[in-house]
Amino acid sequence: MNNHYDVIVVGAGLAGLSAANRLKEKGYSYNVIEASSRTGGKVQSVQRPKSGRSFELGAQFINPDMTELMKWIERAGMQLTETATPADAVSMIYPAKELSSEAIDEHEEELADWRTDLQGDDLRLSDLISRLSLTDTEKQAVASSYAELINLPLDQASARGVIELMTRYTSELEDSHQLNAPLADLIQYMTNTISEQICYDEAIVNIEETASGYRAVSDNHSYEADTVIMAVPPAVASKLTYSPALENRYRQALNSYLNGSIIKTTWVYDDPFWYDYNLNGDKEAIMDVVYTDPSGVTVVDSSKQGDGYRLTMFIGADAAIDIAKQSSREQMETALNLLENVFGSPARAFKDAEQSVWVDEPFCGGGYGAAVKYGGIPDAAEILRTPHGPFAFAASELAEQFPNHMEGAIRAGQAAVEQVIKLKNQQ
Ligand SMILES: Cc1cc2nc3c(=O)[nH]c(=O)nc-3n(C[C@H](O)[C@H](O)[C@H](O)COP(=O)(O)OP(=O)(O)OC[C@H]3O[C@@H](n4cnc5c(N)ncnc54)[C@H](O)[C@@H]3O)c2cc1C
Repeated sequence: MNNHYDVIVVGAGLAGLSAANRLKEKGYSYNVIEASSRTGGKVQSVQRPKSGRSFELGAQFINPDMTELMKWIERAGMQLTETATPADAVSMIYPAKELSSEAIDEHEEELADWRTDLQGDDLRLSDLISRLSLTDTEKQAVASSYAELINLPLDQASARGVIELMTRYTSELEDSHQLNAPLADLIQYMTNTISEQICYDEAIVNIEETASGYRAVSDNHSYEADTVIMAVPPAVASKLTYSPALENRYRQALNSYLNGSIIKTTWVYDDPFWYDYNLNGDKEAIMDVVYTDPSGVTVVDSSKQGDGYRLTMFIGADAAIDIAKQSSREQMETALNLLENVFGSPARAFKDAEQSVWVDEPFCGGGYGAAVKYGGIPDAAEILRTPHGPFAFAASELAEQFPNHMEGAIRAGQAAVEQVIKLKNQQ
């Protein structure tokens, strides 16, 4: 197969789908090459045939400030619904059974100050957290939250890289909403308009320069275009080989990233037993739990109106890497034991459950996304999002706003199209 296109888009996650849709709008010829047999990447839903109940295996929560995602939701005729949590629900640190403090909420400001203090130096994220002016329990809670949020073992994560990543999450709002339908329906909507231009089960392994642009090569085929958009997470993109000019330009930045690791488990209940939790003698509704032992584990109330009561556990970083070595049955039991530790035997009275493991995933990488490792270039995202001639990377990690979220992926895809088209037209 040897067709020539204006643009080859590698990867059909949200970044690739958003890039392809923009190319179609602008009237460019394009071809999307996807390694797996489906679109959506880290957005994936499953639906039970009998009950019709659906679960999000990957992305789920939406912040109404995610404006590009909101435009797609509107175009698809879908709506947001607020996660159904009691108004007075609290956040708890476990096993200390302490409420999350204001100091914890404000730690990001202190982290941001460290950005200036560190200047050219870097620290391991674990070292930086140990320097925050918080109590020991608060530090452990912050460390656990980052292990869940960044999904990288904290002693392997670059403090400057993580601060840089956090500053690109520009909204003050929480991601407290969900779609009123499976996210797979939105992915299907985005896929439908470009479906005739997607090649499935084709993993690109090499990008070569040609006289008129680039050649993207898989084990079986090669695809030629004036322009390539690599809509693949950076740690996954680092496994490919590139033309000497691209290697020169991007190799160090690509190798700066490490994949995250996350295990997500959701249980459905008839009874929301966590609305009536005995917290040191007081009855409290629990909105979320941050475990300090094991670190990197959180539980959130993920209930949607009219869709049963749900709890979702995220196990990140070291804990996820360890648990991923267990059998699926053991993984489910490990998560349930952790839930039972907090809520007791009612945790076992679930009527349905689902688990997904995003550890060392060959094409999506793992975790919510990748992050810069200690020893990597803290500003690697900026290098990677700057095109080299008509070649650009686009993945959620690189987005100027909302990286490692769905919104970031959509924005990264759009930005890559705008940039490469401008450069192509200048040639
Ligand atoms: C468990 C979990 C929970 C999350 N929760 C949220 C949430 O609540 N809210 C939120 O906004 N975000 C959330 N995220 C993050 C969000 O899903 C991602 O940021 C976003 O979907 C990433 O999109 P992407 O297109 O950049 O990358 P991906 O989704 O990783 O897509 C990359 C695509 O490229 C393909 N590919 C890779 N290599 C090749 C190759 N060599 N050749 C061809 N194709 C290739 C892959 O198969 C894949 O389809 C979550 C993620 C996970 C895993």
